[in-house]
Amino acid sequence: MNSRGFLLLVIFLPVLSMETLHGQFKTKYPDVPRIDVHTHVAADVQGIANYLALRTNMLERHDIDFALWINLGDRNNPLVDPIIVEQASEGRMLCSIADYAAHDGLDHDPDSLQHYLDAGFVGYKIWSGPWYRRLEEQSEGHPYIDDLAHEPTFAEMERIGMVGASVHIADPNGPWGNRGDWLADPVEYWKEITAWTRVLEKHPDLVVVMAHGNWLLCQDAQIDYLRYLLTTFPNLNIDLAATFQYFHLVQTENLRAFMIEWADRILYATDIGKWTSQEQTTERMEQYLRTFQILETDKQIAGGFFGGPTIPGLNLPKEVLEKIYFKNAARLYPRVKEQLIHLGYELD
Ligand SMILES: [Zn+2]
Repeated sequence: MNSRGFLLLVIFLPVLSMETLHGQFKTKYPDVPRIDVHTHVAADVQGIANYLALRTNMLERHDIDFALWINLGDRNNPLVDPIIVEQASEGRMLCSIADYAAHDGLDHDPDSLQHYLDAGFVGYKIWSGPWYRRLEEQSEGHPYIDDLAHEPTFAEMERIGMVGASVHIADPNGPWGNRGDWLADPVEYWKEITAWTRVLEKHPDLVVVMAHGNWLLCQDAQIDYLRYLLTTFPNLNIDLAATFQYFHLVQTENLRAFMIEWADRILYATDIGKWTSQEQTTERMEQYLRTFQILETDKQIAGGFFGGPTIPGLNLPKEVLEKIYFKNAARLYPRVKEQLIHLGYELD
């Protein structure tokens, strides 16, 4: 080979292998169903059809079996009709009620919560922070999740067993020198985190799945604090939505040990919303594949979740993956286990 040919090979080989890596990936665990507990397609019927097409593709090309999605509605459609969604999704999407700008009381009256539970909603999605992202003109008062005005709702959720579904109370705060753009101010960040712990102290029986790992996965010391919270509050759980692109900020061995240690309390999730075109189906597949590769393999996964930095794979054991992918969701949310059985999955 002449030197020019060699140069071309050197330039193109890494590009090729990166492009085909996700495309060629086949899971080692085709028998483990997956549930994404944090999605936002709302009641968009075409959007839901796109999820089903993605499911077919994943199964045929990657041996990945998507069983269910939990649909949290979206900011413009916080209350979707679960009957429409479940029909359109062929029984593969369950819905939550939602409040996307919690302030001065939550949107759904405490008296209405049992009705929603009876109607088939599996939880209550609450978005509460950082408050200034959504509540600019209402910044007076106490804009944190422990606002006393929220108390009657949390009390009723705790009483009737309505799950806090992907509750969001802060944005990510990275280590000094790499804090990121989301919530760069550590003081504001910790105000939001501690406000949430005050809610947990008042409602020890409230079952919650915190969105984005409670945003406590971006520094090694945050992971230690999460260990403390999970130990202190046995009904606290976390989803992994949109956390994957930050895994390079912490020690891989620490994160891996944490996931193994707390496998009963961690749920697979992405925060993927709705998309409209066939090309976007491919992009969403790539995103999903990267999350599975990060959790299942020991490879370096280029592109993180949102197309960000390269993330080292965690190579988690199968028993851990089973809990994260579906067993915890089946235990925590109403209807999930029944729906899995209805769809033909054999659970022990
Ligand atoms: Zn979300």
